[in-house]
Parts: sequence; C-alpha cells; structure tokens
Amino acid sequence: MWKVVAVVTAVVLAVGGWAVYSRVNGRPAIDRVIFIGFDGASPNLLEPLLAAGKLPAIKRLMEVGAYGHIKSFRPTESGILWTSVATGKTMWKHGVIDWTYVKKAGLEVPYEDSARKVKTFWEILSERGIRSGTLNWWWTYPAAPIDNGYIVTDRYRLMTIIPPAPETVYPASVFPGVKDLILKGKPKILPVMEREGIPNWKAEDAETPFGGSRKTLDSYHLYFAQDYSVDRASDYLFEHEPVPVFSTYFRLVDVTCHFAYHYVERGLYDETVRLEQEGKLTQADIDKIDQEFARVLTPVYQFMDRIVDKYMRRMDGRTMLILCSDHGFMYSNGAYAHGGLAKEAPDGVVFMAGPGVTKGSRIEGATLFDIAPTILFSIGQPIARDMDGGLLRGAFDDAYLKRHPVQYVPTYETTQRKTGTSSTEKTEMDEKILEDLQTLGYIEDPTDKENKQPATPPSEKPAKKQKRQKDK
Ligand SMILES: [Zn+2]
Repeated sequence: MWKVVAVVTAVVLAVGGWAVYSRVNGRPAIDRVIFIGFDGASPNLLEPLLAAGKLPAIKRLMEVGAYGHIKSFRPTESGILWTSVATGKTMWKHGVIDWTYVKKAGLEVPYEDSARKVKTFWEILSERGIRSGTLNWWWTYPAAPIDNGYIVTDRYRLMTIIPPAPETVYPASVFPGVKDLILKGKPKILPVMEREGIPNWKAEDAETPFGGSRKTLDSYHLYFAQDYSVDRASDYLFEHEPVPVFSTYFRLVDVTCHFAYHYVERGLYDETVRLEQEGKLTQADIDKIDQEFARVLTPVYQFMDRIVDKYMRRMDGRTMLILCSDHGFMYSNGAYAHGGLAKEAPDGVVFMAGPGVTKGSRIEGATLFDIAPTILFSIGQPIARDMDGGLLRGAFDDAYLKRHPVQYVPTYETTQRKTGTSSTEKTEMDEKILEDLQTLGYIEDPTDKENKQPATPPSEKPAKKQKRQKDK
C-alpha cells in the first residue's frame, strides 16, 4: 500500500506544475481561474453607479470578494497595457511599446504576437502542463501554437467586417464552434443593441458638438458587435472547452468613453470647462461631472455588469474570479481621456473573489504587473522573480497564505517562447486594425500627414475632414 502511495506521489511530484498544487492538501483549494478584462473601466465612474445600485452583480462581487484601484502607466495605450497584464512585465521587457511597429524596412504594421519578447501567463501555464483558454487578448495574432489550451486572437473580432478567418484561432479545431457566433451586418446588429439597452448614439442628440470623434460614433455598432461576438464565443468555449484557466476581454466601456462625454448635460459641462480654464476646478467639481458622465454611461456599465453576473454564476467553491481594467478615464481639458489629454494615467479597477479572498476587503497598491503573478499563484504555480509585480496579497486571508505559501522561480524565460508565423507583407487584416486604431484616434490617419508628406498630389487623396485630436 505505502509503495503504491510512494509511486503515485512520485508521479505527481514529477509533473512539476502540479507539485505545488498537491503538496498542501492533496487537492487544491482553487482548481479554476476565470479572468475577465474590461478595457477602460474606471473607478470614478463605476463607484457612483455602484452607490446608486445600478450594478448589482459588481456590487455582489465586491461583497463576496476584494476590490481596489489598479495603477496604470504611460503611455496609456491598451495594447501595451494588456501585454503587461499578461506578462507581469514592463513594456521595456515585453517589447510592445506602441500601437504599431516597423516589421521590415518601411513596413509599419500593428503589433503582433511575434513581436512580444516574453511569455504570457497562459504560455507559462501551457509549459507546465496546465490548459488555458484565452479570448480576444490584445496582440495575440498570429496565434502562437499553444500545447495546452486554445487562443481566440484579437483578430477573431475582425470577422464582424471580414469573411470567416480560421487563422484567427488556435488550434483549428476550435474554429467550427465559434465561427458562426459573429454578429454581422448593421440590420442585425441594431436590434441586438436595442435589446441590450445600448444606445445608438447619434450626433444630433449630443449636448456638445462632435469634432473628430464623430468617426467612432459611426462605427459604434461594429464595436458593439465585436464585444457581443466575443461574449458569445466566450460562452460557447467556457462550456464546451472547459479549462482550468479561462480569460476573456471586452472593450466597449473604453470605446464608449472616448466620445460619450459629448452627452453630459450642457450646463454642467460648460461650467466645468470654465472652471478648468480659470484654474478653479476642485475635486468636488470633478466628482460632479464624473457622476453625470457615469449616468450617461449607465447602459454600457450595465452591459459589463451582466457579463460579470454570468461568470459569477459559473463560479463554484473552487473558482477564483479575477477582473481588472487596464486604465480608467479622467476629466481633463474638456474631455474624458486616458492618454494624451489626461494629466496622468488614470487608475483602473481590480476585483477578486474566490477561496482565500477576504470578503469585502480592499486591495491597496495594485498595479497591472500584479495580475499575471496573482493568476499563477491562484492556480498553484510559482511566481517568477523577473516579473515586475507580485501577488496581490492584500486580497487574501493570512490563514490561506499560510496554508498556500507563495512559491518563486527566478524566471520562466529560460527557453524561447513559441510564436506563430507572421506575414511578411501588410495584410488586409493589418489595414483593418490600422483603420480601427485611427477611428479611435489612437494613431494618425495617414491623410493627416499631408503637410509632412507631400508626395501624393492632393487630388488623389480622399476628402479630408478636420484633424482629429489624439486620444479623445
Ligand atoms: Zn485601454
């Protein structure tokens, strides 16, 4: 009998990844981690809605778990930030430092998976024999081949405007299940938006006139369709391809915040701008406009709340739920922004709930770099010392941390990470991504550069609207 136990124990210990897991109780307290990313979810906008009872699921999540602000950094560009969330490392280590990069001489393309220099938490987990499913994470295309699990890249959502593209997921066996879950075509999208209570924002309904951000408005139904499609793919895969570590990501809150401040009550807006220009803006004034902007955003935060509700219902007593955003939004220079116009990188939010998490506790001092280490710890894996963050200890009971001491390894970068095959040309998908980034004002429309690059005769250029302000 003891020999059998010894052999079994040896086998368990041999499977490195599960050794830490099994050491303490035989069975881990947590056997599943769900991570949900909400781009741009902001504490100053979320908290008034919580106080007003508008977000019941998120309120419940706070009550059963831990909540805090999460520190973002500059440049506050989502692709950079989410790569830091995935790797636990600064942009100087992970190598994604802008929206685009020059792949070959003169060939400027959106960032791709192959440009990332270090491993994500799901790649580390795969190496350690733990399966994961990752959906819609920034810059995961072309999908790196993962041995344990699947990836639905951030270009899957492009299928809302391009023909079915099986290469946007890995492995190929995942594609048949998700290919028909894309919501496509304005006549189909608008009724779903209405059903979900998402406004079909119109320029003529705005309180303050639209400038450059009008373009986002025109594409808004497509951004909704992207999130809605990802949500459906997430539902499908969560159920049909169960994995110990499941991650998905939504961006509608961020996209909406880029223009929806045009819908705040005009009198209050004008007053806020005046006070700001006179240098008299107080925190109380900012709270007031935050409250009003939160009111405008209610339906979009409620869309987020329904997603949270769904995943909370999927938790059992052994699931850890981690939710965060990459930055928030702040009123600054007459707009709500997180980049150029913002005085600093506005805080995002972080929530955790699950075994060992102190109910109703406050997470202090969290940074984006802490998420990957916290996911690794939660699923019983060592944290790498070369990560720039660590475990969000404040969320956990002391007793739990005593029973499950944090394990460390120096680094997971002792082997080269695997990458997918990247195209040597600028593809149609690259162009669509660039258009998307231009629509949000993140990068310049090439036609904005006409003063700098007079190579093309003006007559050959498309009609040019006014130059957009960056990051509004
Ligand atoms: Zn973002």
